[in-house]
Amino acid sequence: MAGRGAVSLRSGDRAMYTLSTLIQGFPGRSPGQGNLGWSSVTLLARGRERYVVDTGSFGARPVLLERLRALGVEPTDVTGVLLTHAHWDHMVNWTLFPRAQVVIGRRELQWAAQSRSIHLPEAYVERLCACTRLRLTEDGEEVFPGIVAHATFGHTPGHMAFEAAGAQGPILLIGDAAKNRVELLTCELSAPEDPDEAQRSVAALWRLWRQVGGGLLVPGHDAALRLVDGRPALAQDRRQEIQAWLGDTVAQVRRFPLS
Ligand SMILES: [Zn+2]
Repeated sequence: MAGRGAVSLRSGDRAMYTLSTLIQGFPGRSPGQGNLGWSSVTLLARGRERYVVDTGSFGARPVLLERLRALGVEPTDVTGVLLTHAHWDHMVNWTLFPRAQVVIGRRELQWAAQSRSIHLPEAYVERLCACTRLRLTEDGEEVFPGIVAHATFGHTPGHMAFEAAGAQGPILLIGDAAKNRVELLTCELSAPEDPDEAQRSVAALWRLWRQVGGGLLVPGHDAALRLVDGRPALAQDRRQEIQAWLGDTVAQVRRFPLS
């Protein structure tokens, strides 16, 4: 893969984004329900430019819209959607943003359009292929001012990470190139489409993270991380909870904190 991490933003780049965690990813799965699909959804904002990076799954829709509105952002205000890859838990909600350009790796969409992977939402991939707002991106491309795509193939064949010039330093949004802190720490990646490419990608991300002097890194299924003494450390508390109705009345809510 050409130029992995070679093109990188430097301080002084004109676009400085503020990051808002719209939905915090969670590193877990349920033995009885399979993949939770609780993925990270992030907003990068600069003036009237608003970019949503990954979009979560169907269940995340009410929370996603509520959090955007709390920031004063209507779905029609979103100028771009950046998809790290085409798995269902990251991509399906691109349809919520009627004016946004939708960015995805060229190789990723080509693969998704012909793959029979059970992790792909076939109809949403098909609809994206026909979308007039679709924008296919390549390794090293500055997709919007101050936001660069990095090829991080392996988890899926055309997976992309995005590097943004943040107001408080570089921001790396790495999707499922490493899904969570422990994958990043150990470089043990669960079920990549191409294990060798996935290993090269996570190594390249480590080089990039160090090269840009740390900064925030948002994995696909975990809280944002910072580099502290060479190790990934939580930059925000993990805040997730399951509420369940296991008693005899609706008022009896059992809360299971997942922190
Ligand atoms: Zn994935």
